[in-house]
Amino acid sequence: MVQETCLCGSNIPSEACCNSIINGVAIAATPEQLMRSRYTAFCLRNVDYLTDSHHSSKRQSDDKLILSRHINDTQWLGLRVIQSGIDSSNPNKGFVEFIAYYTEAANTISNTQSSDVKQLHEYSLFVRENGQWFYLSGDRMPPIKFQRNDFCWCNSGKKIKKCHGC
Ligand SMILES: [Zn+2]
Ligand SMILES: [Zn+2]
Repeated sequence: MVQETCLCGSNIPSEACCNSIINGVAIAATPEQLMRSRYTAFCLRNVDYLTDSHHSSKRQSDDKLILSRHINDTQWLGLRVIQSGIDSSNPNKGFVEFIAYYTEAANTISNTQSSDVKQLHEYSLFVRENGQWFYLSGDRMPPIKFQRNDFCWCNSGKKIKKCHGC
């Protein structure tokens, strides 16, 4: 049986990666695991999980409505985690810098060209409460220009010049 690898690009079967966290079978051990599970939840359009994993101090009463309205506008293409870690002065605070690649929902990975790929490049903050990590907030950063020798945004494992090109 071929097991599907996780949408977050970890190369781990989804049931051993983000899906177990989204389904409540496992809890995220690190800010990066929580961030990856939130990326996967965006791909799966799981509004409930996205709301629940957002820290309560940052939730608004109309979050679910707004998310539901916009979550179908986007086709997520791939995730690249640039750095992640725990605050040296507080083990219950952490950060992840990542790029999530996306395009308009009408496109698919195969018909998307690198010039159509948009980036959510973000430095996100996370807090741990009662043993559980939550997304607190994020700062948008400028997109990073594709280099021909970078691994492709589509998670194929090939260099971009041999995959979607740039
Ligand atoms: Zn995953
Ligand atoms: Zn590619």
